[in-house]
Amino acid sequence: MNCPVIALAEQLISQPSISPDDQGCQELLIQRLENIGFTIERMPFGETLNFWAYRGNEGETLAFAGHTDVVPAGDPSHWATPPFTPTIIDGHLYGRGAADMKGSIAAMVVAAERFVEKYPDHRGRLAFLITSDEEAKAADGTVKVVQALMSRDERLDYCLVGEPSSQSQLGDMIKNGRRGSITANLTIIGVQGHVAYPQLADNPVHRATAFLQELVATEWDNGNQFFPATSMQIANIHAGTGANNVIPGEMSVQFNFRFSTEVTDQLIRQRVEDMLQRHGLKYDLQWALSGQPFLTSKGKLVDAVVTSVEQCCGHVPVLSTSGGTSDGRFIAKMGAQVVELGPLNATIHKVNECVNVRDLQQLAIIYENIMERLVL
Ligand SMILES: [Zn+2]
Repeated sequence: MNCPVIALAEQLISQPSISPDDQGCQELLIQRLENIGFTIERMPFGETLNFWAYRGNEGETLAFAGHTDVVPAGDPSHWATPPFTPTIIDGHLYGRGAADMKGSIAAMVVAAERFVEKYPDHRGRLAFLITSDEEAKAADGTVKVVQALMSRDERLDYCLVGEPSSQSQLGDMIKNGRRGSITANLTIIGVQGHVAYPQLADNPVHRATAFLQELVATEWDNGNQFFPATSMQIANIHAGTGANNVIPGEMSVQFNFRFSTEVTDQLIRQRVEDMLQRHGLKYDLQWALSGQPFLTSKGKLVDAVVTSVEQCCGHVPVLSTSGGTSDGRFIAKMGAQVVELGPLNATIHKVNECVNVRDLQQLAIIYENIMERLVL
């Protein structure tokens, strides 16, 4: 196809870059960015390839962030077209990664090319942060790049992540934050024994009942304008040997919090531990924090994205913090305003993943418009 956005998206989709195997995608992008004067810093960690690229030294920094890796295609015979052979049918580009998120990456790079051609002496700094592992472990990807950038006081003011945020039409929703997630792995310790001799045992299930009741009934916060109230759900619970005449010696409970910015993981930990102590329980408790909540409530980035979408698409996007976690959680640690804007998410991770060709072309125009608002 003659459109540079679609051509680059097709080139990327042709590489079966299943996380964290980049398959040459990043070198393709690096080449394009070098051609228009970007300084490139390759930052591989383990098997994951990453790069940081920037153009300009003065003013505020606007970074575009994304990933070149994709989830596996599954059985290719379930696809209408081969998953790594980009194919356009009825105005849609099909292939693994078309929507998540090789299409967005193509739109970002072409937008940068057009922007630099028009404004070679732009005032602010334009940057890219690209990883080859967002979909799998994400341990050596954006999180490590952010650590390295922070350790040398690299500044980042605004970050636009190209994750597919749109629901039923391009730009109807942008993500301006995500909830935090923390899991508790709790073991209540008792004394195993014969059910006929309870005085010689200590049943952890009986002891835990009042605690669990209080845990379930607790209100953690009321949420706020951007986040629903923090929620706790028990995911797994187990005790007993399977025999009907044995008092169990231990009971294990796993519960997860999806939390808003009205609390912190520290506050949650403290409240749960206080509760356990109040109930006089003997226990072992291990916490696993998988992501802090982040929020870009207002400011120049949200304004720029909202205005650009409105100007290009004719509607005002809804701001949302719904969905799972994304690499935005790591980038927000740099103190940057972070917003996610990308194509429709209806087919991501599915067979016959696709993106509307016109949407992708439009997305490049929106991205360029955002650059003009922030780094011109
Ligand atoms: Zn993605």
